[in-house]
Amino acid sequence: MMSENTWNLDPALESTAIVQLNTQYELYIDGKWQIPQSATYFPSVNPADESHLSQIAQANEADVDKAVKAARAAYQNVWSQLSGAERGKYLFRIARLMQEKSRELAVLETLDGGKPIRESRDIDIPLACNHFFYYAGWADKLEEAFPGQQMASLGVAAQITPWNFPLLMLAWKIAPALACGNTVVLKPAETTSLTALKFAEICQEAGLPAGVVNIVTGYGDTGAALVAHPDVDKIAFTGSTAVGKQIQRACIGTKKKLTLELGGKSANIILEDAPIDQAVEGVINAIFFNQGHVCCAGSRLFIQESIAHQVVEKLKFRLKSIYVGNPLDKNTDIGAINSKKQLETIHNYISVGLSEGAEMYQPDCKLPEKGYYCQPTLFLDVAQSSRIAQEEIFGPVLTVQTFRTIEEVIQKANNSPYGLAAGVWTANGARIFGLSSQLQAGVVWANTYNKFDPTSPFGGYKESGFGREGGRHGLSAYLQIKN
Ligand code: NAP
Ligand code: MG
Repeated sequence: MMSENTWNLDPALESTAIVQLNTQYELYIDGKWQIPQSATYFPSVNPADESHLSQIAQANEADVDKAVKAARAAYQNVWSQLSGAERGKYLFRIARLMQEKSRELAVLETLDGGKPIRESRDIDIPLACNHFFYYAGWADKLEEAFPGQQMASLGVAAQITPWNFPLLMLAWKIAPALACGNTVVLKPAETTSLTALKFAEICQEAGLPAGVVNIVTGYGDTGAALVAHPDVDKIAFTGSTAVGKQIQRACIGTKKKLTLELGGKSANIILEDAPIDQAVEGVINAIFFNQGHVCCAGSRLFIQESIAHQVVEKLKFRLKSIYVGNPLDKNTDIGAINSKKQLETIHNYISVGLSEGAEMYQPDCKLPEKGYYCQPTLFLDVAQSSRIAQEEIFGPVLTVQTFRTIEEVIQKANNSPYGLAAGVWTANGARIFGLSSQLQAGVVWANTYNKFDPTSPFGGYKESGFGREGGRHGLSAYLQIKN
């Protein structure tokens, strides 16, 4: 819903008829759908209207063990024996099938996770397909990726993904792992497992040998069982810093190679010479679209003092025309918050912001009665030490601070336990280079934000994790490189 002083657009709802959902999903182990030994299932809910979508199997330790054994056997007997060119053929086939089913995958991603259809249709699914195409191309060229070096695959990779970009994070993990000759066991997030299960159907359709990809669904304890399994060679985790730290502790003293892609509190910096209207639109895109459910969301805005008033007024004006509502509506900018629990977390941070004394602005918009929705929220005059400026909120909440000099903003932006991404808005190229070299962030965007490409590596500094996904760098996470 938009605020009352703007007109309402006619609804433009995407049809859900294209999605074929089973009423119940089993575990995908060794190329077959297997009933969980736990004999328990959990519901998958549509956060936009709280309706029930399907029942999903809950894997316990015994199921995880079965999946790891299947992955080990497939690694030893089949996948590690294939040439890179053969592995590449399977990956290309998977990529093409994903592309053919892209509309169904996009609608399902929106139904299960609450993100606007515009986002899943134009960003998540095309990028996920492109990741498979990109790594399919590397499968027979690993020698070119690391010239003069010898390399070997690692074996069985355990992969754990979050709920904000379910299929895309799966692609970031599975595509390079398979290209490098490893087999995988993947645990999707409990609130968004459905596209991973559709992906299992795609693996079957592609004729991927049994056991090369296994999908074990469940809660955090399923993930913990996978991490603890002694026959796993590699763990790739994307999720919160708290769980990342637990996983790091669990890997100490084991053979397991680890990459962690964790949380963020990224700075978006507007200098006084920036093209202001573009910067305002960029700020909106960096934090409010996709409900702020983006690890690298530009959740801390820094505006140079001389233009601060003007930028804040423009931001408030722009927020009045943001459309919050049904994620299946093609006009929607902010869809549903992924889960009730996450909505409570965001509301809690909004109360923390108010109690810390920051000035709050929310546009006057009506939220749908059913489902989990949150108004876009600005906090002005935020103190550097306040919790809302330091902790990851993972929702459509932006803190605003001002600065006078470039030195000051570098110091403020870097004063964070995180270091995933940053944005810089300025017309001055030299300032872009200066700032991007001094900001402690894995990616720095200039005069844009949230731009992704499979050829470009992504990953964090400090408590945002270590290791890189994407690009040639992403291959090294799945290879033993011998010099
Ligand atoms: P999360 O709670 O850490 O969960 C991530 C995944 O780990 C889920 O599959 C979760 O299962 C599982 N898990 C939970 N406890 C576990 C344990 N003890 N051992 C092993 N696995 C466990 O994070 P989230 O709330 O889903 O995702 C949001 C976070 O991810 C944010 O902090 C965000 O910044 C970060 N993120 C980072 C990147 C990046 O590239 N850096 C990208 C996307 C998201 P359940 O779902 O069943 O709990
Ligand atoms: Mg769901």
